[in-house]
Amino acid sequence: MNKRPPTKQQIKDYALSRGLDLFGVANIERFDGAPSRMHPAGIFPEARSVIVVGRRIIRGGWRGIEEGTYWPAYTYFDYHGLLNTLFIPLPLYETACFIEDFGFEAVPYYPSVPESQPPTEPLRDGAPPPDVQLAIRIAGVAAGVGEIGWSKVFMTKRFGPRQRLAAIITDLELEPDPLVEPNSICKLCMACAEGCPGAIPHIKEGKTVEIRIEEKTYRWGDVDMGKCTLCYHGGDPRLSPFIPVSLPGYHFDVTKQKLSEDAAYKFCWPMSLGKWRKTSEFPSGYIIEGHAYLSKWGDGGSYGIGGSRGCMRSCFNYLEKQGLIEQTFKGGEFIKRPRWMLDAEGKIAE
Ligand code: SF4
Ligand code: SF4
Repeated sequence: MNKRPPTKQQIKDYALSRGLDLFGVANIERFDGAPSRMHPAGIFPEARSVIVVGRRIIRGGWRGIEEGTYWPAYTYFDYHGLLNTLFIPLPLYETACFIEDFGFEAVPYYPSVPESQPPTEPLRDGAPPPDVQLAIRIAGVAAGVGEIGWSKVFMTKRFGPRQRLAAIITDLELEPDPLVEPNSICKLCMACAEGCPGAIPHIKEGKTVEIRIEEKTYRWGDVDMGKCTLCYHGGDPRLSPFIPVSLPGYHFDVTKQKLSEDAAYKFCWPMSLGKWRKTSEFPSGYIIEGHAYLSKWGDGGSYGIGGSRGCMRSCFNYLEKQGLIEQTFKGGEFIKRPRWMLDAEGKIAE
């Protein structure tokens, strides 16, 4: 075992050498305002630091969806497929091993969501009930990796909105990184709200959420997560060429729905992944075959249909065009042609 504690730079160099792109450290005090069921110390009471790492989502992952021609790459590489299940967890795990080789405990944290917490009692006196889930984007802000944009997406200077995050909770004391200045990355341009099919409020509506870390206040739009889930997970005929094939005549106006996020999941997932009887017309038996096969590409887990039209694609298109993010592309703007959107019956809009 190494006798001296590793320096932050040693851990960072190692993490980046294994393929991670982003690295920052929060001390545990920066979580002082967090609810106990979202607090890192709820998982590891001796925690002194939270290391937040990230890996880019490649721009090309969205190309096929932007053109309206090819869906699998995004789900397979950039979403629940390899990015969330291999490309980040492997270097995250290796970095945790690196820290433990110095004699400090390192809890690798998979970025699940607090919405999935079961309604149960604590298992020990004084402990929060299972499962404790961090708000990974807020952890990312606390670690100085970036800020939360108006769209509620985590943003960095290097990639704009294009990254996913994970964390390591450790009893190793590390110097925290400086916090990012609020709105130094998100410029409140509203390109996200304009490109979004109806979930992101415009700033004029005054619907905001805010948090405070040390002396800084971060504020973002109160995104309608029910509508977002319907759009993203295959409940919106305007965004899925697969719905009209499997459910001809189906008409559904997402903009009029008032579902909670959970209720929207209950609606989208069984419809996308469930089965009905096999017929000669639909021999696989899947209710929406195109969605079900995309989920298989995503390692049998989640799948992306809507392809984050506003919060990702419109956002990074804007930021790149304005020269506001570090990674640049030689081929010009991402959005190169008029954008497609179907109507509420899944037909090509006039
Ligand atoms: S498009 Fe991006 S930069 Fe512009 S307001 Fe939305 S999140 Fe902020
Ligand atoms: S995923 Fe789609 S619906 Fe949800 S916020 Fe982003 S653009 Fe809007």
